[in-house]
Amino acid sequence: MYRTGHVGVSLSLFAPVGYWLVTSGYIALAALVGATFVALAMLPDCDHRLPGVSHRGPTHSLLFAALVGGAFAYLGAQVEPVLDVAVPAGLSMSGFGFLLGFGSVLAHLLADVITPMGVNFLWPHPHRSSLNVVPSKDPTWNVGLFVIGVVSTGWSMGHAFGLL
Ligand SMILES: [Zn+2]
Repeated sequence: MYRTGHVGVSLSLFAPVGYWLVTSGYIALAALVGATFVALAMLPDCDHRLPGVSHRGPTHSLLFAALVGGAFAYLGAQVEPVLDVAVPAGLSMSGFGFLLGFGSVLAHLLADVITPMGVNFLWPHPHRSSLNVVPSKDPTWNVGLFVIGVVSTGWSMGHAFGLL
C-alpha cells in the first residue's frame, strides 16, 4: 500500500492496544506505541533505497519484524534503568520493546498482504503470500484505510479517556 494506507492500518492496530494501555493506566506507553506505529509504518519500504535488496523481500518478512523487535528490546533494556516508565505486569521494558518493534513491522506486512504482489513472510523461503484484494496504488483503499485508522483511534482514545 501507499503511506496513507499503511498509516491507516497501523492506527487501526494501535486502536485496541492503545485503549487497553490507557484504560490500564499506561498513558505514556500508549503515546509511545501510537507514535512508534506511525513513525515505523513505512520502515519496510526502506528496501526501495537499499541497493541489492529486492522490494518486498527481506524487509517484508517475519525475520525482519523480529530483528526490529530485537533492536527495540535492546533499546528498552537500555532505557529501563533510566526512565521510570510503568509497564504492564509480567512484561519487562525489553519484552515490551520487542512487541512494539515486531508489531510495527507486522502492521506494514498486513497492509501489503492484501495487494496482488503480496509479501514474503517466511523470507528467505521463497513462498509469497497474497490475499489479492486490491492493488497498492488504489486511492479509495488507501484513503479508506487511513480514515478507518483515524476514526478507530479517535473512537478508542475518546472512550479510553472518557470523552465519548
Ligand atoms: Zn511495503
